[in-house]
Amino acid sequence: MIVLKFGGTSVGDAAAIRRLVAIAGVALPERPLVVVSAMARVTNALLALEELVAAGDLDQAAEACNALCLRHEGTALELGLGAEATAALAQLCDELRGLVVAAIGLSSTAARRDLVAGFGEALSSRLVAGAFTTAGLPASWFDARDVIATNDQFGGALPDVAGIRLAAVEQLAPLLAAGRLVVTQGFVGRAADGRPTTLGRGGSDFSAALLGAALAAERVEIWTDVDGLMSADPRIVPEARLLAHASYDEAAELAAFGAKVLHPATQLPLVEAEIPIVIRNTFAPEHPGTWIRSGDSEVGESPIRSISFKPGVTVVQIRAPRMLGAYGFLRRIFEVFECHQIVVDVLATSEVSVSLTIDDASRLPAVVIDLAAVGEVVVRPGRGVIAVVGRGIRETPGIAARVYGAIADVNVEMISQGASASNLTFIVQEQDGPAVVRALHRTFFPETR
Ligand code: ADP
Ligand code: ASP
Ligand code: MG
Repeated sequence: MIVLKFGGTSVGDAAAIRRLVAIAGVALPERPLVVVSAMARVTNALLALEELVAAGDLDQAAEACNALCLRHEGTALELGLGAEATAALAQLCDELRGLVVAAIGLSSTAARRDLVAGFGEALSSRLVAGAFTTAGLPASWFDARDVIATNDQFGGALPDVAGIRLAAVEQLAPLLAAGRLVVTQGFVGRAADGRPTTLGRGGSDFSAALLGAALAAERVEIWTDVDGLMSADPRIVPEARLLAHASYDEAAELAAFGAKVLHPATQLPLVEAEIPIVIRNTFAPEHPGTWIRSGDSEVGESPIRSISFKPGVTVVQIRAPRMLGAYGFLRRIFEVFECHQIVVDVLATSEVSVSLTIDDASRLPAVVIDLAAVGEVVVRPGRGVIAVVGRGIRETPGIAARVYGAIADVNVEMISQGASASNLTFIVQEQDGPAVVRALHRTFFPETR
């Protein structure tokens, strides 16, 4: 079997869904399991809806809810869906409206955000299953929550890989073996107590990988709106070039540092069984895309493979001159982050000061209070991480000079190099990010200019 995962733009309107139907139809002999994201922008709209609910604004919440339902019902009409799919969509819309009314004015919780956010994939997967049926394909809709078992870390739940394998083999494998074209939601799971969870933003790729690993797929195809993994985000560098091959490690590093095309955890379940990931373009299905598997990397003229940029990062600097010569400074700092369950990304240290970056600044005020017991704290929001990823960066002389030479007029705030053999990471002001990526791309890929 194979897994075909379609992202938000690939299910974004009736025309995109028709393309998806054609792609899955061609793949039918390979027994595809189809995993879908919410329609483009729907997850954001649902999270905004949840804020209106918490704020107690019933009129606006009802309007937002209606707009979401209209978009899905309108798409269903355009696709000429049958009674089963239409009824399922209507029921989901009723549920969402009921939830809005029941929760109006109650303060938001992570559990409720996951419950509401999960409606996007529920709606889109019903649309897609209905479109398959309308096209005469033998489709079955399957609730991903019945197999994606997770812990209860709402907003970014961790999967129970063994539980998922058991459930997938028991429930999904027979449907696929019977020749059914199974359609399910990405992004969502269920905790042991039955409450719905999500795997975190962009998590549908991870869902596809978890299911692919559980069912020993031949490959996991990630269908999106670009030709594959590229030497930079093509929205920033239009002339970016395609990487026809990449190793799991390269893909993971790029994803971790901002290449949104792949969720950073996607390769994790697939590495051991060496299941390849293929990134492909729904809007150019004739294109072979990028193949990601172990050791699968091209040897090019440049040791640099790709440059990524992640905006929305906050730098936290802690200075404690009294810790000069004392030990335990780093431990005390990391204990604070651990206690608040905040993930630290990039790190640079000197003897009495530490600079680090975090993605999610929502719990920062409490962290700053605790860090103040260790030293002076300075918080700098509005930063971005630039990562230059390639092979043998640590061993290749002159790379850092070329990198910093290319962006001599930009203020680089923090550098992390050498911890990984394959990347060089630094922090800039968020607004400088795109220009920095373009300058580095011109330096390392001069032929694409
Ligand atoms: P989907 O909705 O299909 O999951 P995403 O929006 O999550 O799609 O990811 C696709 C986007 O990732 C592309 O439109 C592109 O702008 C962006 N992207 C960022 N970095 C890269 C890169 N190195 N290669 C390809 N795409 C990238
Ligand atoms: N719909 C979810 C999101 O927007 C998951 C995904 O698209 O992968 O984050
Ligand atoms: Mg995505």
